Amino acid sequence: MKKILVSQCLYGGDPVRYDGKSKAETDPRFLKWKEEGRLIPVCPEVFGGLPTPRADAQRIGDKVIARTGKDVTFEYMKGAHEAVRLAKEYNVLCAIMKEKSPSCGSNKIYDGTFEGNLIDGQGTAVELLRKEGVQVFSEEQLDQVELLLAEEV
Ligand code: SF4
Repeated sequence: MKKILVSQCLYGGDPVRYDGKSKAETDPRFLKWKEEGRLIPVCPEVFGGLPTPRADAQRIGDKVIARTGKDVTFEYMKGAHEAVRLAKEYNVLCAIMKEKSPSCGSNKIYDGTFEGNLIDGQGTAVELLRKEGVQVFSEEQLDQVELLLAEEV
């Protein structure tokens, strides 16, 4: 069975988000894939050694800066590499990653001003996954994941 890498906050379980909250996905298709054992949860920020909860952070160019002003680029990149390692280990079909996150966003991210402005862009883990040839979708694009899975059968 082909596996799918997913953001751990979408998968559910112990909270891993910066605000200590959960964003578990409830779409029946996602729940079915979870039940089948198809989903491989990853949290790049926790993999990078960051605590939960933690200061929110945003991408500014090639860097990731926390609201406190701390440069957390190293932690974000460390976690991104671990996500890629798991994607390769499980030879995933694709990834479903949480939109708007500075790690996991695949279409939209915040603009680095901490004023709530979204821009076109991708998170650090998604950028690295795509560089390594992994197809990435957001939780808003499950129709496309379904089509990809249908081609696999
Ligand atoms: S890094 Fe990704 S998986 Fe972890 S909490 Fe943020 S969006 Fe969710």
